[in-house]
Amino acid sequence: MSPAEKTPVRVVVLGGGTAGWMSAAALARLLGDLVEVELVESEDIGIVGVGEATLPHIRGFVERLGIDEAAFMKATHATYKLGIDFRDFGKIGESYIHPFGSFGEEVAGVGFHHYWLELQRQGMADPLGSYSLAVEAALANKFAPPAQDTSLASSYGYAYQFDATLFGPFMREFGLGIGVKRTEGKVIEVRQDAESGDVTTLVLEDGREISGDLFIDCSGFRSLMLGQTLGEEWEDWTPWLPCDRAAAMPCDHVTEEIEPYTRAIARPAGWQWRIPLQHRIGNGYVFSSAFISEDEACEFLLANVEGTPRAEPRLLRFKAGRRRHSWNRNVIAVGLASGFLEPLESTSIYLAQMAITYLIELFPLGGKADARDRAEFNRLVDMEYDRVRDFLILHYHATTRDDSEFWNHVRTMKVPDTLASKMELWRETARVEKYSDGLFYDASWIAVYLGQGVVPDRYDPRVGIPDPARVARAMGSLQGAIRSEVAAMPGHREYLTAARERLAEPL
Ligand SMILES: Cc1cc2nc3c(=O)[nH]c(=O)nc-3n(C[C@H](O)[C@H](O)[C@H](O)COP(=O)(O)OP(=O)(O)OC[C@H]3O[C@@H](n4cnc5c(N)ncnc54)[C@H](O)[C@@H]3O)c2cc1C
Repeated sequence: MSPAEKTPVRVVVLGGGTAGWMSAAALARLLGDLVEVELVESEDIGIVGVGEATLPHIRGFVERLGIDEAAFMKATHATYKLGIDFRDFGKIGESYIHPFGSFGEEVAGVGFHHYWLELQRQGMADPLGSYSLAVEAALANKFAPPAQDTSLASSYGYAYQFDATLFGPFMREFGLGIGVKRTEGKVIEVRQDAESGDVTTLVLEDGREISGDLFIDCSGFRSLMLGQTLGEEWEDWTPWLPCDRAAAMPCDHVTEEIEPYTRAIARPAGWQWRIPLQHRIGNGYVFSSAFISEDEACEFLLANVEGTPRAEPRLLRFKAGRRRHSWNRNVIAVGLASGFLEPLESTSIYLAQMAITYLIELFPLGGKADARDRAEFNRLVDMEYDRVRDFLILHYHATTRDDSEFWNHVRTMKVPDTLASKMELWRETARVEKYSDGLFYDASWIAVYLGQGVVPDRYDPRVGIPDPARVARAMGSLQGAIRSEVAAMPGHREYLTAARERLAEPL
């Protein structure tokens, strides 16, 4: 190790939202003495703080940082999440769950869904979800942690639904405890080196200056360093993802049981979320302002929530897209400063987490970023965004809804070539494009394709070989085994109540 590599890299994180505190805490914890981390945040500006549903990857993040799950859940009023219940997306009146889990098992190298398609053609199959333990447990409002072996009880994962306004502060406490320095103040100027263009110093309103070697831009939609100072171009994905507003509103619980899943209900100009937390339900209408006014959307939300509202609808504005590069010079953007994809599949916190993970892997020890590492980081982040983008577009495009201008638009729009070819492959072969990195593998795509009625023209011909009645019996016994597992699981609230250390104080 050269002397330069031994000198800690001075990392300055701008922004104390979810992305900022996740970045600061992870860098401090996982790079230890190799870095000195300082975070600047402005209470005057505040955070977005509506992200409430996550993906299972967050568990690995929490664990790697050495955070105790129970303490984290208690502090953020978290519940468990087994998937998302999509209602009325393919057709009004139909619904399906996209689970954090699989459907059946491969037999003789052929994916389960090929057998399901064949049996369904012969009228011998039940809905796909009945072959998934995660789906059945979710529908029964049950929860138990998955087994750590290879049994049926290990065929699912889980994430959390939590109060995002409490997650940032929790990560802040954690970050401060492991040596992150916090500075409160509003940045009014970003200074650059005249020659290299690298950012050198942040100047605060009261004149204080904060210098560093590497700057993490977590300033939210403002993208103060990457967007404003370095002028990194914005790639606009509104033509494919036209939702650009959300009205958010918490309500009281209406039943004793807590659903262990998020609901996404398609609406005339977008969709509505319903996320159960320990003490309340988070609700929101994500909509396109090209198809409905803000006032109408707020009224619609008020008229379509269950339970007593705890506040007036709060309006948020955003755009789908991302900066062309997330790492430019010595500035790396994480979170909303890098890009935004609407919350239909709860991917935003995941995208921040992935950027942090890639940054740690490619971290410029010694302080000077290598152009190859920067290019690799940008390639990986682009890949993650592009995969999520295509998956989200599928939920809108794969519909037969023709009840409103919004759905007519998304149903008939031209989709990105990458998605068009994935859909073609599916329709012609029932196969899902294979990839080893990035988000959403086969089971996720299959759940949405079949859930929204995109039935392939052909599937693996090998499923014609076995005796269909025998396959039907095998699938029936899988359903039986799933039913027994679910029957033995505790209710979601029952599990939370028994694991008391996970419960927040009654409000
Ligand atoms: C409607 C909606 C629903 C969402 N739902 C989900 C969901 O279910 N799941 C999910 O994973 N994600 C969701 N998200 C995304 C999630 O909220 C964000 O990814 C997350 O909060 C990260 O935000 P951030 O930290 O990048 O930015 P912010 O929360 O905006 O934080 C920005 C920070 O920068 C600071 N700052 C800015 N300018 C300055 C300055 N000049 N000086 C000093 N400080 C400054 C602010 O003080 C603040 O601390 C949702 C987002 C929206 C809009």
